[in-house]
Amino acid sequence: VKNCVEIVQRDENVISKASRAPYFPLVMKSGRGAIVEDMDGNKYIDMFSSAAVLNTGHCHPKIIQAINEQIDKFIHFSTDYMYSEPQVQFAEMLTKITPGDFKKKVCFGLSGSDGNDGAIKLARSYTGRTKVISFIGAYHGSTYGAISLSAISLNMRRKIGPLLPEIYHMPYPDCYRCSFGKKREYCLMECLEYMKTAFQNYIPSEEVAAIIIEPIAGDIGFAIPPQKYMEELYRMCKEKGILFIVDEVQQGFGRTGKWFSIEHFGIVPDVIIMGKSIASGLPLSAIVAREEIVDALNMPAHLFTVQGNPVCAKSAIATIEVINEENLIEHSNVLGEYIKERFNFMKEKYELIGDVRGKGLSIGVELVKDRITKEKDTQAAIKICYRCWQKGVILIFLAENILRVQPPLVITREEVKAALNIIEETIQEYID
Ligand code: PMP
Repeated sequence: VKNCVEIVQRDENVISKASRAPYFPLVMKSGRGAIVEDMDGNKYIDMFSSAAVLNTGHCHPKIIQAINEQIDKFIHFSTDYMYSEPQVQFAEMLTKITPGDFKKKVCFGLSGSDGNDGAIKLARSYTGRTKVISFIGAYHGSTYGAISLSAISLNMRRKIGPLLPEIYHMPYPDCYRCSFGKKREYCLMECLEYMKTAFQNYIPSEEVAAIIIEPIAGDIGFAIPPQKYMEELYRMCKEKGILFIVDEVQQGFGRTGKWFSIEHFGIVPDVIIMGKSIASGLPLSAIVAREEIVDALNMPAHLFTVQGNPVCAKSAIATIEVINEENLIEHSNVLGEYIKERFNFMKEKYELIGDVRGKGLSIGVELVKDRITKEKDTQAAIKICYRCWQKGVILIFLAENILRVQPPLVITREEVKAALNIIEETIQEYID
């Protein structure tokens, strides 16, 4: 990895360490589908999709064509002052693929982070309330609003305060690592009771504008809340006039085997934030919400000079088309089940695997030192991911010990099999 290492050294000399969490000295040269090649000519199966961004895979020909056609015409003409057909067309498509039969409108941005900021703005201006509820462990991005919503890392919040006021963090319904020490079968939805107690004691619910939740957790650790939790949370929101907002930046756009992960619960949210994969790697985010909520925001409260740029919008339109034409949502379900089956099979063999969970091609594998105490095995995660990279599989972990299995939705069964064989072999070697 000589060329890669050289670039890493130059990088460290000029680029902020605050924007990098390196795992291995990997510098990409090219990619196609689920296969990428580094600057030294090594090939890898991508089980990471660049943090769930490349749902349509690397350099999908249709995406490239859409981008090239637009670039040939013009790259940008500020939609803050003028209008743009690709942007309108993509917004129209978004209102159709998102849940809810009501009239919706869209706000565009450049990143999942600004999408979350925008959601706070929408909620506050629509409800006239200030308080917002989010969840412990959540990652919502790194603008000030998004950091304020997040509760995943002290370093993310240290030294940069004050953050946005009036944001409260609740325990996430993570049944494997229940905050109240309960086993799944004895769950009395203590996390919801905790929120209810908060509403009785220190958070006047009539001052709460919104609850912002990832319906299936990403960085919290791939937790899937119980159906009854989500239903009751939604009911409580409706009863108290609180907006129910979902962050689908990581889990949206087909990743979990539905267009949006909230659809697994049959719930129609008031506001949806999306980003990452929607333009197949170009910077674009969107907030889709009920018309009256979007209309509550004044001009120019959520405006970015290159928002909804036509090149990004064309790429995004092509992304929806590719997902539909290639049946990627169904593919995600089928392959996801196969991957879970394989990991569950490994779980029977290796004590190291404490839990396997996820939906579609968004799967987390908990590595633990002890199945009873569930002590996280970070060393195992580091070593296994590093070794997999050496053997040609890009695999990352999150939450200190959870293998993050999120390949491009276009990955083939053969590629998945090859990657899983390497992962299993590496786990076996680690144990030996
Ligand atoms: N929300 C979620 C759930 C995310 O996973 C992320 C990115 N990891 C973000 C928001 C922030 O998106 P971005 O990095 O594009 O700002």
